[in-house]
Amino acid sequence: MTRKSAGISAARLAGAGRGLKGRGFKGLGITGLGLAGLAVAQAGPGLTGLGPVRRALFPRLAGEGDPGHVALTFDDGPDPAATPRFLDILADRQLRATFFLLGEMVTRAPGLAAELSAAGHEIGVHGFAHRYLVARGPRAARDDIRRATELIGNATGTRPRLFRPPYGVLSGPALVTLRGLGLTPVLWGTWGQEWLPGATPAAVYARLVSRLHGGVTVLLHDSDCNSPPGASRAAAGALPMLLDECGRRGLAVGPLAEHGLPAR
Ligand SMILES: [Zn+2]
Repeated sequence: MTRKSAGISAARLAGAGRGLKGRGFKGLGITGLGLAGLAVAQAGPGLTGLGPVRRALFPRLAGEGDPGHVALTFDDGPDPAATPRFLDILADRQLRATFFLLGEMVTRAPGLAAELSAAGHEIGVHGFAHRYLVARGPRAARDDIRRATELIGNATGTRPRLFRPPYGVLSGPALVTLRGLGLTPVLWGTWGQEWLPGATPAAVYARLVSRLHGGVTVLLHDSDCNSPPGASRAAAGALPMLLDECGRRGLAVGPLAEHGLPAR
């Protein structure tokens, strides 16, 4: 089997093939590289609807965990203009979540990063710059991940264990770097796509709930730094509705650390 034919895209695993924020996902080329039986490559748009397949094949990468639990994850922060809104909602409900931080954002708001950690939230790495790893050279990808991991660890006083690539797209060199740093890549199983134009809390909630199930990992963004203005506000508006629905279904909500992800 060739690498190309064996390639499973991170986007496809996450059901993220459609859209990807419309940021030039096409034309980046295939970057498939087998690692521990996993080949990750770029996929074109429109590769959705394979949820059950990807969860069965790569449950850990897809964030598929305990069927009685929903993992709550936030990307792109910390953002003083938006993250506190999410922190307040979580504090009100005495819930903790996983925040995948951007190194660039941490340099601007190290205190807020520390606050997240002090509040008991799990800290993950989302890279330093929000750029496609497959569009960067091996050294640039490695340096970005290392720099972000060190910076985020220092700011939060933690040793991050989880990584989520920008746009959900991994590369071979990135996977090698992650392994060396003891970082596990985790994507998501449902998302609000609050970065779509004109997103409202109701629309974000509708998208989230369409794939909500016990064991799923939820992705929302606690910053507009890579989204249109108002995206994170729509996400924050949808969050209480999502938490209510989890309650109605008897699903516990928490960070990935408590999600019972399958062993490597
Ligand atoms: Zn992101």
